[in-house]
Amino acid sequence: MFQFISCREYLENITAVGPRTVGSPENEILTVNYLLEQIKAIESKSSDAHKISVDIQRPTGSFSIDFLGGFTSYYANITNVVVKLEPRSGAKHAVLSNCHFDSVPNTPGASDDAVSCSVMLEILNTLSKSSDPLQHAVIFLFNGAEENILQASHGFITQHRWAKSIRAFINLEAAGVGGKELVFQTGPENPWLVQAYVFAAKHPFASVVAQEVFQSGIIPADTDFRIYRDFGNIPGIDLAFIENGYIYHTKYDTPDRILTDSIQRAGDNILGMLKYLATSDKLAKSFDYRHGNVVFFDVFGLFVLAYPARVGTIMNYIITAVTVLYLGKKILQPRNRAINYMKELSVAFSFTLLSWFSTLVTVLIVAVFISLIGRSLSWYNHFYVSIFLYGTAAAAKLILVHTLAKKFYYKNRNEQFLGEMFFDVSLLVWSIALVLITQLGLCSAFICAMWVAFPLLTKLLTYREFKQKGATIRFVIIYMLGMFIPYLYIMYLTWTIFELFIPIMGRSGTEIPPDIVLAAFILSSTVILSSYFLNFIYLAKSTKKTLITLTTVFGVTLILVCSGVFFPYSSDSANPKPKRVFLQHVSRRFYGLHGNLVKSDSGIWINGLDYAGISHITPHIPELNDTIKTNCEDKAPLCGFPWILPVHFLLRKNWYLPAAEISPTNPVHFKLLAKEQMPWDSTKLTFEVSGPSHMSLYIRPHEGSTLSSWSLGDGTPVANIGGDYFVFYAHGLQAVAWRFWIELKVLMLVSHKEYQVPKSFWVRS
Ligand SMILES: [Zn+2]
Repeated sequence: MFQFISCREYLENITAVGPRTVGSPENEILTVNYLLEQIKAIESKSSDAHKISVDIQRPTGSFSIDFLGGFTSYYANITNVVVKLEPRSGAKHAVLSNCHFDSVPNTPGASDDAVSCSVMLEILNTLSKSSDPLQHAVIFLFNGAEENILQASHGFITQHRWAKSIRAFINLEAAGVGGKELVFQTGPENPWLVQAYVFAAKHPFASVVAQEVFQSGIIPADTDFRIYRDFGNIPGIDLAFIENGYIYHTKYDTPDRILTDSIQRAGDNILGMLKYLATSDKLAKSFDYRHGNVVFFDVFGLFVLAYPARVGTIMNYIITAVTVLYLGKKILQPRNRAINYMKELSVAFSFTLLSWFSTLVTVLIVAVFISLIGRSLSWYNHFYVSIFLYGTAAAAKLILVHTLAKKFYYKNRNEQFLGEMFFDVSLLVWSIALVLITQLGLCSAFICAMWVAFPLLTKLLTYREFKQKGATIRFVIIYMLGMFIPYLYIMYLTWTIFELFIPIMGRSGTEIPPDIVLAAFILSSTVILSSYFLNFIYLAKSTKKTLITLTTVFGVTLILVCSGVFFPYSSDSANPKPKRVFLQHVSRRFYGLHGNLVKSDSGIWINGLDYAGISHITPHIPELNDTIKTNCEDKAPLCGFPWILPVHFLLRKNWYLPAAEISPTNPVHFKLLAKEQMPWDSTKLTFEVSGPSHMSLYIRPHEGSTLSSWSLGDGTPVANIGGDYFVFYAHGLQAVAWRFWIELKVLMLVSHKEYQVPKSFWVRS
């Protein structure tokens, strides 16, 4: 039985340490010592059936990653606390459970990710006390450098002696604070892992849609899942708390915001899964079960439906075939009527497409207008504003187009006939979508399948009613009942997507207009949800009242939004929605090719993390205005700013307020150790760098030369967007000076040789 009480105690103690960044004593000493003490206490009470081994790993390594445009990471002496729980007699195979105890600066990091480490401690406690034997080992990795873009998991999976025994992993993460943990990635392939979740998770919350959305890369985040998959070749399950993403990575990520229920849920689920996997025959022979994808989704949190993607594909085609039969029956009439029907169907189909297109244009015009007048994100604090603004506009436009069609084109036509015709159009559209998405190999096609199967069944049940004059009560009731499940499911899914995406708009950079993104989301939801109700526009006597109501709500909301009534952020202590701003005090020095100082300055470098930039801050701070906006230094890599990560393409608007020079306690020392002439016209430069725990290195080869190889990553340099090379360096508590080399090659056809030492090197402290 999972005990949330001791789990909460662990959580309180870890977060009491404060922010835990890599290289700080809080992360490298205090938290590590605390974890070791707890593990020791657990070990002393463990049952004789098991053996517990503890190891502290301090890896040094490097890798390149295709994230944020591609960059290379180098880490030295970072920390992993690894615990192995296995049967007395030992085990050949293992399942890994991963959490991270480090945090970003300025946050106690309760949900991200101390709570997961606390849950893991408690699971270790529960499993080790139990006399139930395990078949395989369970390895608990408390990793100390995840926020440093996945360094610790890389150090573990590529270097630790236990890594080779791992057959599957469970990764515990956060993209929000508290709430339920969503399974948002599984695999690659290995359907037996989803089965483990289906069998063992008491409170399921999982979706293959989330997986396909996440793996498409539109969420600006990544997890250790990628490292285990790409560098360890191990399949796994990725879970994350997703509620309240507004305060993820802020000082508000505190333990009191995580409800006991969330801890208990997470504990029950993960304990269940680890137990299941550690006693499963499939874990040992995972290689035999590795093929195939799974369609999976929870049904309102009650249970998970999962089936092989192959079965899904067959089902999807059967559903399509039935639809074709249904529509085909109407075509197989006497020739004249058939041609007539086809003609009518294509006209109705065109009207439907036209209504969608004109709705898209309308909603986009509103969104662009709102963005241009500087009122974006007015719904960030109050979600309903977006529905009143974009939802009403979309619904009104859809209804208007069809009302006009009915009035002018379908004048005096039989309403029942039109109702049925537009129902058939929706069925046709969704069948086409079903075939296309199935063809693309996406598991999310199950939604289209649902969106065809249920309405078709409803249609067949109400076949007679469709023909009768006036929508009878019986018809409306059967229709609503038939649509109930798919509608409820789509609303549940839409809500989850909104809950996840709206907070992300507060940190998606200055370049992506959030109103356009949200308007597009709302438009898609409106189109999907309205598709089987378009026929009611033709069955209804009048749509005037509905149109007037929708237009009025839209108009009033638009006026209110324009007048600035809806302030996007909130300081409400119970439910904060802070504005995210990075302030960094920097001193920059630019040197020329011969080591001469070209330019230097100091200032507070300001980045607003959302589209509004710093516009809501300037009225309160007179020093801040547009005149201090700093443009990109075109000649310097990454615009000449000291980025900790290559997010320059997301944050193009920068403000730089002059300030006093900084004197770092641990200044950077950058030395060229050797310059060697190599064969094939290339030159090898060896450098040594020492300095603070976090440093960034940019490399831009001089015109006419290329960076052909280096001692970092796998030896092949990986360029970032724009062609410069970005290296993220970090070290734990102590580290020897960082030594690396780069090899520059003169391009063919260029007769002169010139080499360049990395142009700039910046430190933050
Ligand atoms: Zn995290």
